[in-house]
Amino acid sequence: MLLVTAALLICPGLFSSEKARAYTLKNNKVTIYEGETFPMDSLVADADFINLRLITSDRSISTPTKDGALLGLGIGECVVTLSDKKGGRDEIEVKVVSKADVHMVALTLDDGPGSHAMELMDFFASRNVKATFFMIGTDVGNYPKSVQRMVDEGHEIGNHTMNHKQLTAVKKDRALKEIEEGAKAIEDVAGVPPTVFRPPYGDSTAEQRVAAGMLTVLWNIDTLDWKYKDASRVEKEIINGAANGNIILVHEIYKTTVEGVKAAVDKLIAKGVRFVTSTTLLTRYGTEVEDLIGKRCFSDKNIRD
Ligand SMILES: [Zn+2]
Repeated sequence: MLLVTAALLICPGLFSSEKARAYTLKNNKVTIYEGETFPMDSLVADADFINLRLITSDRSISTPTKDGALLGLGIGECVVTLSDKKGGRDEIEVKVVSKADVHMVALTLDDGPGSHAMELMDFFASRNVKATFFMIGTDVGNYPKSVQRMVDEGHEIGNHTMNHKQLTAVKKDRALKEIEEGAKAIEDVAGVPPTVFRPPYGDSTAEQRVAAGMLTVLWNIDTLDWKYKDASRVEKEIINGAANGNIILVHEIYKTTVEGVKAAVDKLIAKGVRFVTSTTLLTRYGTEVEDLIGKRCFSDKNIRD
């Protein structure tokens, strides 16, 4: 619906001959990543691809695939002409970008859900920020609407164990239960299982990480927000730590953190930084999640056994 509204704003005459056409264009500008396809069904409604023709002005930049998607071959911009046998004809500007060129950062929020989660999500939704929430199993039941919203709005939900115990300081069986129970508690409330794991205090054994069965996401930027509880300090730490590929740790349960996050995110977005989920960041160069299980991911470039 949003896309349709946007297309109407850009090209008010677009739908005038809708009935005669084999397709409906939702947007006349698309961005795709090099080596990836843009699914045409998100661009074209009621598409009958047999009747559609796609011609690209530069086939070294983008080319149509057999199943009617646009493939990003090389970095640059070209025009794709879309036409059907009923006289419909439109031009789409296609921009192909390299994933390596996008400045991405993962903002990770620990120890929730808490009373500030909704406020944060309102803010994230208005800025198209995707974050990762590492939640404590005993707390998810207190904020079921927040947890549901995280899932609905494309944030990543993470297992921060059941009781926030240091896993290397408790008995082996207890540690494994902490991981298992945390994942189950989150899934019970969220309706979907968590996709990332973060051990409390960053401490875990390889066996525990393998047992968690998902990406173990640590961090390389620690804002120490819990210690200073100072919004401007949080803001400064995030801005200084937002180099491409970094994973930033904050705790969603402090008002000062929420204020610092908001201020920093706005300034970084203005500089072109994109806030993505942990999994998006860690798989951006094509690494499979399965190949990272058991490892400790500190940033997209710092992944250790
Ligand atoms: Zn924690």
